[in-house]
Amino acid sequence: MTSKLIHGYEVVIGFETHTQLATQSKIFSRAPTAFGAEPNTQACAVDLALPGTLPVMNREAVACAIKLGLALGSHIAPVSIFARKNYFYPDLPKGYQISQFEIPVVQGGEVEFFLGDEKKTVRLVRAHLEEDAGKSLHEDSALGGGGQSGIDLNRAGTPLLEIVTEPDMRSSDEAVAYAKELHKIVTWIGICDGNMQEGSFRCDANVSVRKPGAALGTRREIKNLNSFKFMQQAIDYEIRWQIEQIEDGHAIQQATVLFDPDTGETRAMRTKEDAADYRYFPDPDLPPLHISEQWVQEQRELMAELPRTMAARFVADYGLPEYDATTLTQSKAMAGYFEAV
Ligand code: ADP
Ligand code: MG
Repeated sequence: MTSKLIHGYEVVIGFETHTQLATQSKIFSRAPTAFGAEPNTQACAVDLALPGTLPVMNREAVACAIKLGLALGSHIAPVSIFARKNYFYPDLPKGYQISQFEIPVVQGGEVEFFLGDEKKTVRLVRAHLEEDAGKSLHEDSALGGGGQSGIDLNRAGTPLLEIVTEPDMRSSDEAVAYAKELHKIVTWIGICDGNMQEGSFRCDANVSVRKPGAALGTRREIKNLNSFKFMQQAIDYEIRWQIEQIEDGHAIQQATVLFDPDTGETRAMRTKEDAADYRYFPDPDLPPLHISEQWVQEQRELMAELPRTMAARFVADYGLPEYDATTLTQSKAMAGYFEAV
């Protein structure tokens, strides 16, 4: 749906996207990150959280964060802090996830894209480095069986950049266009393989509705959307559901929901926790992350021309309309072909 009012309601959407970084090894250990290995063959003592092990920052993961910051015009923090996000889950043996909280590595910035021929800008709040958790495999999957669940820790410690937007989007179409643009950028600059089936690029869509001019409505967060088609369906369903609830006189409860592609519906997974529930505190095992201006400059010089810059050059040098220039820079291959011709 496009950004017109729906039954008199305005839609508000903000995104949190987990991009898996294309590093050889994990964010705080030397175990490999390759996808699809036999369960628990790519998890080392650090990933298993064995006593006495300590995390060591992967330099390449930081370089990925710097590249993203450069690509999106963000502030790259000269000093950022790792924090423990405490919660229990069977596939999180430490009992906490190492993330960044108050001072993330990438701050601000924006993503620009076309929705039809209308130019849109979505502002970013931040992008922070964090580790992924392992996976629980249920019943009929490889490790589980006979009504049991298994734990695969191969994914534990895989480097992620979580990219968080302001609640700037006003329709499911705009949200999908944003996600496609972000996907293009992270693959273009080579920090993520972009494989959505394998979970390398997963989006959480925060959705609320309100009467025009009113304060922001209460949001529900649809977790782990890993296809653009399901993303659109899930958001459209969620918008209809929220409007129906409000029209029926029910208040929206803040919640985390999952989309079921078989039924086309979203359903509540848990009521939403607040940051306070996670008892964040600076991780005493990791020193502050220092990024020198020189390192940023090195990354800047290494980076290929960005799609936005290339599009601007096509406008300036070849006199193309902005829309055409943007279309021609949808992929590196397409842009290369155009220039060659
Ligand atoms: P948390 O990390 O607990 O999910 P944040 O406040 O960081 O909470 O917000 C997460 C995402 O939700 C951001 O992308 C933000 O833009 C979006 N968001 C916040 N409030 C709303 C709202 N009322 N409607 C839609 N999206 C929202
Ligand atoms: Mg969230």
